[in-house]
Amino acid sequence: MVDLKSQYQQIKSEINAAIHEVLESAAFINGPQVKRFEQNLAHYLQAEHVIACANGTDALQIALMALNLQPGDEVIVPAFTYVATAEVIGLLNLKPVMTEVDPETFMITAAEIERVVTPRCKAVVPVHLYGQCAPMEEILEVAEKYNLYIVEDTAQAIGALYTFSDGRQAQAGTMGHIGCTSFFPSKNLGCYGDGGAMYTHHADLAQKLRMIANHGQAKKYHHSLVGCNSRLDTLQAAVLEVKLGYLDQYSAARNSVADAYDRAFATLDWLQTPVRSKNSTHVFHQYTLQLKNEGDRDALKQYLQERGIPSMIYYPVSLHLQKAFRTDEFGEGDFPISEDLCSRVLSLPIHTEMKAEELAYIIEVVKEFKS
Ligand SMILES: *Cc1c(COP(=O)(O)O)cnc(C)c1O
Repeated sequence: MVDLKSQYQQIKSEINAAIHEVLESAAFINGPQVKRFEQNLAHYLQAEHVIACANGTDALQIALMALNLQPGDEVIVPAFTYVATAEVIGLLNLKPVMTEVDPETFMITAAEIERVVTPRCKAVVPVHLYGQCAPMEEILEVAEKYNLYIVEDTAQAIGALYTFSDGRQAQAGTMGHIGCTSFFPSKNLGCYGDGGAMYTHHADLAQKLRMIANHGQAKKYHHSLVGCNSRLDTLQAAVLEVKLGYLDQYSAARNSVADAYDRAFATLDWLQTPVRSKNSTHVFHQYTLQLKNEGDRDALKQYLQERGIPSMIYYPVSLHLQKAFRTDEFGEGDFPISEDLCSRVLSLPIHTEMKAEELAYIIEVVKEFKS
């Protein structure tokens, strides 16, 4: 699905030099690379504050911890997403309130937020799924109307650019109160282990996020909040500093693979290529097909596998049907779009080092599946 080995080969000397510098300095925790990377990323995103942390799931947890929510408060999440989004809500004794998703872009919508919102809802976590932005203009409006915090899960969409109707543009993760991202190796900006970050324009939230990520202390050994220990290693920051310089190039490479798939599959009436969301660029963390006939999905996956092509199902089970989140309130059939997507989606290999012959082979095999 990804080719991290070839990507490393391309930038090996820079990465090795950056890692070597950390090893020589032995500043493994909070070395200067961490602050530098935070500043470089803030500059790239045009965000006021970036706070690095240990992984994307921690970023979401710390973001929710910073919002003064009370046990039992509700947080709205899409039913069709990676588990981390809902998991941290449960972990903090908050209640995940799931929404149905848009059948074309598979993302949360303002109308759905409005349908499920209650007086106990305090926040919403839109997920910028597969690499494009959720409909933020509408979500910002509805959040304002119901006084909801917005925590953007931008783990899959770093670098995606959203355009508001007045022409103003903003990076994914910088439109709500807090944006949360992941630097897991296979993410669009991936390190060589775990890593994550939070972004915000609000100085008070930035200070609180930083404190929570550091045992609730602003001054060493003086703890004013219950926090946690969530740091980005200096080694990972050094890797990320190098790779941030390539992010635009990486996004362009992913887009050219996606464009080639789009062109090749446009005439196949048994599948739907990814629908571009309105007002957003796409950074193609995933290239996800929707098979029109439910039975075709597993058959295509099998067909590809037999011909040496990996493919993945993101995601096979809707959140509301996951054992960890089962309640009496809803069951099978309650989120028909999410449930249906779980049986129809298939993601094809897409990455920054895809060779023309690999791409041509995948296209040929997909086309041949029904010919
Ligand atoms: C990867 C991912 C996360 C979690 O990131 P980790 O760094 O693995 O903890 C959260 N949300 C979404 C949508 C993701 O894709």
